[in-house]
Parts: sequence; C-alpha cells; structure tokens
Amino acid sequence: MSTSTTITPSTTAIRQHWVIGNWKMNPSLATAKSLTEKLSENLVKTTSLSRCKLAIAPTTLHMLAIKSILEQASAQIQLVAQDTAITRNTGAFTGDISADLLKEAGIEWVIIGHSERRTIHHEDEKLISQKIRATLDTGLGVIWCVGETLEQREAGQAMNVVTAQIQAHTDILTNIDINKLIIAYEPVWAIGTGRTASPEDAQQMHGSLRQMLTQIRAELNQTSLLYGGSVKSDNAYLLAKCPDIDGALVGGASLDADSFLQIAQAFDIA
Ligand code: PEP
Repeated sequence: MSTSTTITPSTTAIRQHWVIGNWKMNPSLATAKSLTEKLSENLVKTTSLSRCKLAIAPTTLHMLAIKSILEQASAQIQLVAQDTAITRNTGAFTGDISADLLKEAGIEWVIIGHSERRTIHHEDEKLISQKIRATLDTGLGVIWCVGETLEQREAGQAMNVVTAQIQAHTDILTNIDINKLIIAYEPVWAIGTGRTASPEDAQQMHGSLRQMLTQIRAELNQTSLLYGGSVKSDNAYLLAKCPDIDGALVGGASLDADSFLQIAQAFDIA
C-alpha cells in the first residue's frame, strides 16, 4: 500500500525458513486425507527443500489420521494445532484441548493470536498470554500471529498496533526458547481477501518487528518472521526476496498441494 520501493535488510544472519498451511475449518476428512497424500507424495518424490521447513494445521479432529499418512510416507511435515486451551490442567474445560493432549497426539506447534480467534472468539492479550504460556510449558512451539485491521492501517496505526501486540508479552519474550517461537505478521485486511501487502510494506513491518524483538533481547534477532495474508504461488517469490521475511503462513493456497509446495520452493532460498 506504500509507494516506497527501498528494501533494506536489518540482518544478514541465516534464519530458519518456514511455510505453514492453516487449513482452518475447511477440508472434510476425506479431502484432508487426499490432500495430505498428495502433499507427501510430491514432497518425497519431486520437491526437494533444503532451507524451508513445512508444517500444516489441519483441524484437531483429523490430526491422528493425517499424522499416520505423513509417517507412512516419511514426509517431513510438522503438525500444528489451530488453537489450544488456556491451561494445562485436566478437568472441567468443555470443548477445550490442552497443549498436553496436543503433544500426546504428535503435534509440535500451536497457532496463537490468529485474527480469526481475536475477532470471532474475542481473544485478548491476557488470554493470548495464557495460551502462549500453556503451550511453551508443555514444550510445544508457538506460531504467534499479529497484525492490524484495515481501519488501523488507514489511520496510520499499523506499527503502533503490532508494537502493542508484541510488547504486551515482553515478559514471555525475555525468556522464550527461540526455537519454539515463530511470529507471523498477518495484516487482517489481507487474510482471505486476495489483497496481499506489497513486498515493501511487508518488509517494512518485518524489519521493524525484528528491531523491536532485538531490543527486547538480542537473540530474538534470529526469530523466524513469517508473512501471512493471501500468499499465493504467484506472489510468494517477491515476498521471499524480502530480507526479513522468513516464510509464510498460508490459508487458502495451502488447500492445494501444488500451490503450497510452490510457495515452499519460493522460500527455500539460501
Ligand atoms: C491465514 O488465515 O492465516 C491466512 C493467511 O489466510 P489466507 O492465506 O487465505 O489469506
């Protein structure tokens, strides 16, 4: 959305690249299974990735079936839960699934703070903090989403909003194991809309995010920062060229095995 075309790297170190598919509440069990089979087959037979790791977030209900397909195919794709409970306790938490139960099912990561949870389920920073802590205490990793709405961007507030979303959890960031942290910048106006942030705008936000994290703690400079919001195979290459974008959190395009793997190839750069 900006007119600037200058992209300045804020760091040159090698960081882990990730492409993560968020399937949301989309595929039926049959579709999820055939998508996993196609992904696994293509990954094992034709798509070789060296720098970029892959992960998918099916609905929790399908997780065990998906896990078994991945294992049979020896496909290196990690499993991500779309949500977790605010506590590790067992007991009276109807409808919730704790991070311990997710871990038991072979899940390695949890998406927390996704805009759809913030909007539809009114999740605030206090609840997000509880979920992050429960996840990390279990030993799982957090894919932590931040991002501004269109109104906030148009009011010139994008950076302030994202800064507040990060700084609300400075206490967590000062101690976190950085191998358990992925941050996804997902402008809300770009999610599922077909309207992607320009590489310049995305890089600007990612560069500022990295600076902000580094000020909290030097090691956080190595955090994998993903962009999310209408990433497709045809815009992934330009986003992947941005020095502070280490991968993508992909919704719609992750429901097609070919598109998803093409996006992964775009981010599989040294
Ligand atoms: C998302 O839901 O995290 C997302 C980025 O979706 P989409 O790629 O469909 O915009």
